[in-house]
Amino acid sequence: MAYTFYGGAHPSGNKLTYDRPVKKVFIPKKAVIPLSQHTGSPADPVVAVGDSVTVGALVGKSTGFISSNVHASISGKVTRIFYSPTPNLPRVLSVVIEPQGGEDQEFKAARRPDAGSLSKDELLAIIRDAGIVGLGGAAFPAHVKLSPPKGKIIDSVILNGAECEPYLTCDHRLMVEKPKEILRGLALITRILGVKDAYIGIEDNKLAAVYALGQALKSMSGELPGVNVKIVTLKTKYPQGAEKQLIRSILRRTVPAGGLPMDVGCIVHNIGTVFAIYEAVYFSKPLIERVITVTGSCVREPANITVRIGTLIRDIADTLGGFAKEPKKVVVGGPMMGIAQYTMDVPVTKGTSGIVFLSQEDIVRPKESVCIRCGKCIETCPMGLSPTTLMNHVKKEQFSEAKALGIVNCFECGACVYDCPAKIPLLDYMKYGKAKI
Ligand code: SF4
Ligand code: SF4
Repeated sequence: MAYTFYGGAHPSGNKLTYDRPVKKVFIPKKAVIPLSQHTGSPADPVVAVGDSVTVGALVGKSTGFISSNVHASISGKVTRIFYSPTPNLPRVLSVVIEPQGGEDQEFKAARRPDAGSLSKDELLAIIRDAGIVGLGGAAFPAHVKLSPPKGKIIDSVILNGAECEPYLTCDHRLMVEKPKEILRGLALITRILGVKDAYIGIEDNKLAAVYALGQALKSMSGELPGVNVKIVTLKTKYPQGAEKQLIRSILRRTVPAGGLPMDVGCIVHNIGTVFAIYEAVYFSKPLIERVITVTGSCVREPANITVRIGTLIRDIADTLGGFAKEPKKVVVGGPMMGIAQYTMDVPVTKGTSGIVFLSQEDIVRPKESVCIRCGKCIETCPMGLSPTTLMNHVKKEQFSEAKALGIVNCFECGACVYDCPAKIPLLDYMKYGKAKI
């Protein structure tokens, strides 16, 4: 059985850092820590300019159920609280911390001896307090995702190791280098949800990860009592890592339009998130750092690195030996769904999976020609939409017609644009139409 979904595209992988081990964290000259790095209400600052903080201290307190705590990623003095640009938002209240020299920058991890016997509520409280959010990009608070409303029956957990975006390899490296930790994180999640079936979905261009997790699973099945864990090798196809497509590929269930994975009895977590949950529960470690991929044709030494949250993109590039050629476009996330930046003075946030530095040659937009009605975009759209028809309605400002044809279900994956032989910027029309609606 081929584990895959309907539609999709095959962009070049460009996984330049596939076999590059994760480099150790470096300490930035300053950390700019946004108080809104997550879906939901921003955290409230609990520090003031002039305060001294140590790594791991709370700097922003969550302000509701769908919100998240924010912690100091380095030790030092709070030198400024101001509205900073972030990779996804133009102005977010942010706490700036600068080391004064001589501080201990290591987080003092204390192994929790009772990690294996904590109750569901205790686990959820630890995950909430540690500020864990989805590390795949949307940054949805993990404790909320792990608390489905009463009446929702969850029978399956899926770990998303697809990493279908070109260039990115941070999840791949985590799976290769930390498979036991990921499986322990998975064990915590299945305990919280009371679920017996767990799947780890990995595209078939990452067989090293399939192997590493398979070996780890064999050696530690005693740590997952009563849980059936299946490592599922998925066809390499974009956007395999999108939740709805992943669920379709693995469980053959279809999440209804406007619905959530829990509507079909399942919860999906990203690999990085599960690793962060493991560290929070076993070592009382808040989310102060994460693995990212720094890559692209302009980077002298593409790498997977652990960075402290709040590190500026500019400082990361300098640390990796600068640029081989001048970047003309800097994308946070992958090149398909990532966001182009207008400045390199934006910090890495919890949802930053990678930074891609692209050259002039990489970003040339091919000349657009007329639609030849080939139907390729319809064949490609994983949501079963007709991008060409939707584009025509949007062009004519017929937004109610576009809405009736499901334009709001477009999740802006860009696969249709990638496959269009006429190089029509279909996604621009989707975005415009959705914004108008
Ligand atoms: S219409 Fe939207 S969901 Fe469909 S392929 Fe294009 S960008 Fe992706
Ligand atoms: S893929 Fe491009 S050329 Fe083909 S039908 Fe769609 S919009 Fe037209």
